[in-house]
Amino acid sequence: DGRLRAVRDRVRSFPDFPQPGVLFRDISPLLKDPVAFRTLIDLLEDHVRASFPKIDFVVGLDSRGFLIGTPLAQRLGIGFVPVRKKGKLPGATESISYSLEYGRLEIQSDAVEAGQKVLIVDDLLATGGTMRAACELLKRLKAEVLGCLVIIELKALKGSEKLNSIPFYSLLQYD
Ligand code: IMP
Repeated sequence: DGRLRAVRDRVRSFPDFPQPGVLFRDISPLLKDPVAFRTLIDLLEDHVRASFPKIDFVVGLDSRGFLIGTPLAQRLGIGFVPVRKKGKLPGATESISYSLEYGRLEIQSDAVEAGQKVLIVDDLLATGGTMRAACELLKRLKAEVLGCLVIIELKALKGSEKLNSIPFYSLLQYD
């Protein structure tokens, strides 16, 4: 698919960032190119419309999940809910600690109602720890997590196995 290639061509790789031994995938060129970025959102929209008949909210993960989740929610004609790192959201929150490195994720307690259907979006799935924690947060609010969606999946880390039975989709896969 030419559209997929146009998106993949705008992901850069940086060795040893942020730590030695890590190959960092950088979507900045994709965000900077309006045609490729539109194509990205087109592809995600096509997938979501084909897979899920009814979603109440797109939930985006701090912070690059916001960049993908907000335009996608607008396209779908539905609302967007942010999941943030600790201490950024006012009012009552639910929070979950998920890794020594990253700390805690939070969501406003009134962000979704019991039974509402959500799709969780981020830029990239590595170990899957962040996405799994987000799923757990939404479950605490009794939301129904219909699926998890990312642009990039780092296959070798087998992160999708952490998501158990929740449908997972990635646009691009790297080893
Ligand atoms: P995980 O929890 O190990 O799956 O890591 C995923 C989270 O870390 C996501 O929120 C990503 O934005 C971020 N992340 C991990 N590796 C990369 C990378 O190579 N490029 C961009 N973001 C990354």
